[in-house]
Amino acid sequence: MTQFAAEDLLDPPAYPDVGYALLADRIGAAMRSFDDVVFVQAEAVVALEAVAASLAKPGRKVLNVVTSLYGDYFATWLRRGGAVVENVVAEPGRPVDLAVFQAALDAMDEVDVVVLVHGEAASGVLNPLPEIAESAKARGALLVVDAVASIGAHQFEVQTLGIDIAVIGPQKGLGGPAGLSAISVSEAAWAKIAEEPALRLSTLSLLDLKEKWLDLGADALPGTPAPLEFWALDAALDRIDAEEDGIETVIERHQLAARATRAGLRALGVPPWIEDDSSASALVTAAPVPAGVAPQALVDASGGFEGAAISLGVGGVEHLLVRLNHTGIRAAYRPVLANVVAYGQALAALGQSVDIDAAIEAVARAYQDAEPVGSAE
Ligand SMILES: *Cc1c(COP(=O)(O)O)cnc(C)c1O
Repeated sequence: MTQFAAEDLLDPPAYPDVGYALLADRIGAAMRSFDDVVFVQAEAVVALEAVAASLAKPGRKVLNVVTSLYGDYFATWLRRGGAVVENVVAEPGRPVDLAVFQAALDAMDEVDVVVLVHGEAASGVLNPLPEIAESAKARGALLVVDAVASIGAHQFEVQTLGIDIAVIGPQKGLGGPAGLSAISVSEAAWAKIAEEPALRLSTLSLLDLKEKWLDLGADALPGTPAPLEFWALDAALDRIDAEEDGIETVIERHQLAARATRAGLRALGVPPWIEDDSSASALVTAAPVPAGVAPQALVDASGGFEGAAISLGVGGVEHLLVRLNHTGIRAAYRPVLANVVAYGQALAALGQSVDIDAAIEAVARAYQDAEPVGSAE
């Protein structure tokens, strides 16, 4: 049943020991980080749990922004380690309200850590990271950011924003493998992680990665690294480097896909679920489920349209929105057009009134008006 030649999958050469530190540097550059970068050899949710497990200490005070399931998970993991967690929960499918965030921050006598997700692929939200970073820094708190669904799609600058811990996965905006994640860790964060009682002898221990890899010269990774994942990450970074402007080109391609999708929806006569462009994800665009339309019926009705990728929202927003996916190689004219037309035709089939011709024209115009942005396949 495999689509691959067995010799491409089996008996791969080991990834060279000297390569890991170079890969970490390249990931650091993609995040605009000068801090240490460590790898977690698993999908990104494991890296997030490792951060929570490593940072949580009895009595540590955390302000945690919740805009999807990932925020809920993070609170659970932190509390398991004894941290005292205050959640700021946004309205379903909405970015966190800055005034609400600030009030929650002000209400805390002490705050050691602030946690948020930057971009949400589950609901198409982009949280106001620069503003939150500034507030967190003003309180002297560590800042932890889940950037899995923003790296490669939005500007994400660890150094400029003073982010202490950033978690990324290569499988979304970077178009890389899903079985490997990376974490940028500042000096201040290492100090908080190393405070006793510190998590050691655990697959979730960042301190183990520091002591058994970084501190030993960032050479061979402990254990048996999965070579295919590292070769795939290497290839994904090479593909990005081959772009005219590297990751900037990749980001611009996602931004253009979002702009074109949003213009298409507006021309259709259905404003995007998030009306403010600056609060919207560039990996997926959330489109509303109109009153009287069953979400699954909408997804099913869009399913027959070749090239479209439309799915239910995730994490309590299933009844509110569907997601038009323009991630990675889908951040291109044809997939964007297919999504908008499929959504429009599905709405029309379910009795809604939409202007599909206008939507097609709006998507085409968005791409015509744009500077050329490299060659997405
Ligand atoms: C996709 C995603 C993750 C990680 O998902 P995995 O499937 O475990 O790689 C984490 N956080 C956010 C915000 C995401 O969108």
